[in-house]
Amino acid sequence: MNTFKSDVMTLLELESGKTIHQADVFELYHAVSKAAMKQVKSKWEAPQVSKKACYFSAEFLTGRLIYSNLQNLGLMNQLSELFHENNIDVAIFEDIEDAALGNGGLGRLAACFLDSAATQGITLNGYGIRYKYGLFKQYFENGFQKEAVDDWQQFGDPWSQRNEGEKVTVKFKNQTVYAVPYDTPVIGYGAKTVNTLRLWQAEPLVPFDFQLFNDQKFELAVRERDDAEAISSVLYPNDTADKGKKLRLKQQYFFTSASLQDIIRTYKRRYGNDFTHFSAEYAIQLNDTHPVVSIPEFIRLLVSEEGISFGKALKIARQTFAYTNHTIMAEALEKWDAKLFKSVIPNVYRYVVMIQKALLKELSGMGITGSDQKPYLIIDENSVVHMARLAVFATHSVNGVAEIHTEILKKSVLKEWYRIYPKRFNNKTNGITQRRWMALSNMELSGFITDKIGSGWVTDLEKLRNLERYKDDKNVICQFAHIKQIKKQQLSDYMEKHDGIRLNPEFIFDVQVKRLHEYKRQLLNALSIVDIYFGLKNGRIQNYHPTVFLFGGKAAPGYLRAKGVIKFINEIANMVNNDPEVNQQMKVVFVSNYNVSYAEKIMPAADISEQISTAGTEASGTGNMKLMLNGAVTLGTLDGANVEIIRQAGEENNYIFGARVETLEMIADSYNPREIYEQNERVRAAVDTLVNGMLDDGGTGMFRELYHSLLDGASWHRPDNYFVLYDFISYCDTRLQAISDYSDRLAFSRKCFLNTAGAGKFSSDRTVREYAIQIWGM
Ligand SMILES: *Cc1c(COP(=O)(O)O)cnc(C)c1O
Repeated sequence: MNTFKSDVMTLLELESGKTIHQADVFELYHAVSKAAMKQVKSKWEAPQVSKKACYFSAEFLTGRLIYSNLQNLGLMNQLSELFHENNIDVAIFEDIEDAALGNGGLGRLAACFLDSAATQGITLNGYGIRYKYGLFKQYFENGFQKEAVDDWQQFGDPWSQRNEGEKVTVKFKNQTVYAVPYDTPVIGYGAKTVNTLRLWQAEPLVPFDFQLFNDQKFELAVRERDDAEAISSVLYPNDTADKGKKLRLKQQYFFTSASLQDIIRTYKRRYGNDFTHFSAEYAIQLNDTHPVVSIPEFIRLLVSEEGISFGKALKIARQTFAYTNHTIMAEALEKWDAKLFKSVIPNVYRYVVMIQKALLKELSGMGITGSDQKPYLIIDENSVVHMARLAVFATHSVNGVAEIHTEILKKSVLKEWYRIYPKRFNNKTNGITQRRWMALSNMELSGFITDKIGSGWVTDLEKLRNLERYKDDKNVICQFAHIKQIKKQQLSDYMEKHDGIRLNPEFIFDVQVKRLHEYKRQLLNALSIVDIYFGLKNGRIQNYHPTVFLFGGKAAPGYLRAKGVIKFINEIANMVNNDPEVNQQMKVVFVSNYNVSYAEKIMPAADISEQISTAGTEASGTGNMKLMLNGAVTLGTLDGANVEIIRQAGEENNYIFGARVETLEMIADSYNPREIYEQNERVRAAVDTLVNGMLDDGGTGMFRELYHSLLDGASWHRPDNYFVLYDFISYCDTRLQAISDYSDRLAFSRKCFLNTAGAGKFSSDRTVREYAIQIWGM
């Protein structure tokens, strides 16, 4: 008897009193998930004996778990059989919402790392926050972005287990709360290793009790409950410069303090008060500055709870913690007003002061004194606490996430630190898990690859190189191109359901999907579409193949300029798609609510991957890797991991344009975008659509604001801060070259094929292995 199938039936009967035919999608979801959970139970409960790495991250963008877990457990076939026998479509679980407990790349990276570690038998547990509401859901009204709350738990969370027995208390200045862990198994491919993602939920100390009604205590209890629950209530979008700062610091302290208490408790079961083995037992990786407050908290716990001396505690911290930098954007390198810090966690602040003292002593010892100490100050002369500086000082490893990014850290952002601790700096180029981003989301291409080179690529992506032997085999390239057509058709079918838009798979699919941000330059893409529109209408553009320009991505709710760009793109879509003179040749679409599950549909269908950030601004990118793996050519700048992508796949198989970092550094001070605007007719025609009435921003003034941002700047930035106009013609011409090259389908498909063949380096299996060996000492 097949236990999985019969477990599903039994669970349905037990939990909902229904047969498989009567059950609705949510009852099926729970039964299938719980039946699968049963299979991991014994593996999951086995103690983790070797060194344990802990991934501290404020975000985990896991996406939908059910398919990937069933795949990794090897239960997909049994589910298909069971559903087939009962006439149920396996795709029904696409109605289950994503768990979107992250904003974008950084959170998705954390999820890919967990999959890769478990698959390779590396003990890596994730620690974060169980937000009640994840990243908002996006929809469009009249071309404007609107936000709705993401109530991801509305249909339950069968993949997690509440672990009441392991809750801890977290103390703030005027508040103490419980942190209750919810554990989700992280099931490696083949299910040999099962790690844990532990997300903490904040709850009041006194259980809320309606019996207190009629009592004046009632109001107090309500307030206490609400204040506690607020801590794990919402995921902060990327725009919260000043809003809710206090709550955000509370969140960071909440989950890191809970995680550390948990880890130390486990450690002490074996070693008691002897902390000399701590860094041999645990490595803690800090995903960006969000969890950096864990360093002074760790030292505080050792000193004030365990009686270790400050000096020893700092030493253990340095041996245990490692810091990953994810951005050079100043606004993302977190800083706290010391007053605010003290008002939330005064006991921890005291340890920041002590760490600063240790820093000053170390600097003096190196001969760095007086004003030379300034760029190092963790608490600076304006009473601002710099979390990145704290991280560099009190860890043994600082890494960037692509080669060019790490070099920029060393040369500019953290150059003073690199001078004194050169050995601390290292690079770990990001990666993605091929289990989700190929095996699961592109079964057709997976089958094709396995047919050609065997299935080893599923756990060893470098094997894709073996595809190169087919690069001149016309039949193989045609098969490969045929699969792309199938995926384009599937995406079109899905989009028709999801967004009511049909695409023609004969068109090129040119795709830019990622969070909306000025540095990612969706505006450059949009203006170039306007240029193509004019060029087609006036006959300037020849040798052109019909193209869909596809966008997806959310703008942070308070980021008005990014929202203006969304409206601009939607207005361009209106103009282009309704113009019979061009709409057989171009189509512009902005899909709504781009998330992991949508990405899984889009990546396999793309021909051109837009990676057009200003050189030096995108730390790595991972969307670029997903698209490359699925056989898209990169149209991009020499930025982030693009540099390594073209090194792997060949410059001749990609489309590189625009200024390099060195050039931008040189021209930055003299750059005058208005000159370009005045001298170049195409630039002017495109930019003028922001203000000449052709496109309508509904009276909001958003388009005019974009226009001024390019030509005049604003109080907080110079004109065209991200060099949109500087790169404009280079971008448009390179893009038109790619579009024209597509007409030779065989030659273009060969480029795509060689991108897939060259994607081996970008597996997160490789990245995690490098962390494990080079940073975690495993
Ligand atoms: C991969 C991914 C990202 C990161 O995309 P970039 O292009 O690297 O910025 C963001 N959001 C989702 C949903 C993703 O899957």
